[in-house]
Amino acid sequence: MSTILEEVNGVFRTRAIDVHVTHVCNLHCDGCKHYSNYNHKGSLEVATFREWISAWSRVLEPKRLHLLGGEPTLHPELTKFLYVAREIWPRTVLHITTNGYFLDRHPNLLQAMIETNARLSLSVHSKDPAYLAKIDPIREGLRKHREETGVDLMESDETEVWTRTYTGVGYSMKPYKDNAPRESWTHCNAKYCMQLHDNRIWKCAPVAYLRMQLEKFDLTTDPDWLPYLNYKSLGLEASPDEMREFLSRESELVCGMCPAKPPRILDKTIDWKGGFIASKPRAAAKAS
Ligand code: SF4
Ligand code: SF4
Repeated sequence: MSTILEEVNGVFRTRAIDVHVTHVCNLHCDGCKHYSNYNHKGSLEVATFREWISAWSRVLEPKRLHLLGGEPTLHPELTKFLYVAREIWPRTVLHITTNGYFLDRHPNLLQAMIETNARLSLSVHSKDPAYLAKIDPIREGLRKHREETGVDLMESDETEVWTRTYTGVGYSMKPYKDNAPRESWTHCNAKYCMQLHDNRIWKCAPVAYLRMQLEKFDLTTDPDWLPYLNYKSLGLEASPDEMREFLSRESELVCGMCPAKPPRILDKTIDWKGGFIASKPRAAAKAS
């Protein structure tokens, strides 16, 4: 199934686009498809976001725009993204995906959501009692606000659907070698989550942020990853035919890096301080 829903006067109406307002996250969810568990840095300026989506709005109109990361509430100007997005894409459903930890840093968020008709989804990542004790009051707060304001504040339970798109951790990261891109794509729960990153459109998060991740762990010359690093994202220089072809693609070579039968992870760790280890292997450490 194509990500294009309709094409009107040269504008492709597509399913969804994700934007990292920041790569930073406070949690370490083992196997995060955005690699946000690896302590990446960098946030998007609101002005840059405006520039990007203004340019893309001439050819694209997503049905849903997801503001996420990383953890979007770590961006001090999160609410401004909502107003900019609403101004440029009046019909798009605006959606914030958050782990909830820092909602209290944005006292104006609820009002901004009312004014821009936005939604928020709290991702629930673990059944660990210590974690649930932390987020249960947040869930309760959202429930109360939902009842009082009618704003769409929902939960997304990630505990039963979590999968990994690679093996290993950090320096030992490797793509899967199932060599069955069609099967990988068919079973993929990220296949309609295109990313707007570096002012280009990418198939999904594991592809969009792959270079950033491999650079951090000195893996850009690893022959196992090279075929996937050659992936070509979509830029504004593309012709309408090239855009149509890109947006209509289903499985492709890059899907070969993902598992054909994604293993369910029911006991993932979420705590960065709770034992995440990605140390440099001894041989690589000596060489640098
Ligand atoms: S909360 Fe977990 S899944 Fe969400 S961005 Fe952070 S590390 Fe990734
Ligand atoms: S590369 Fe393909 S299979 Fe892997 S996450 Fe992206 S869309 Fe899914």
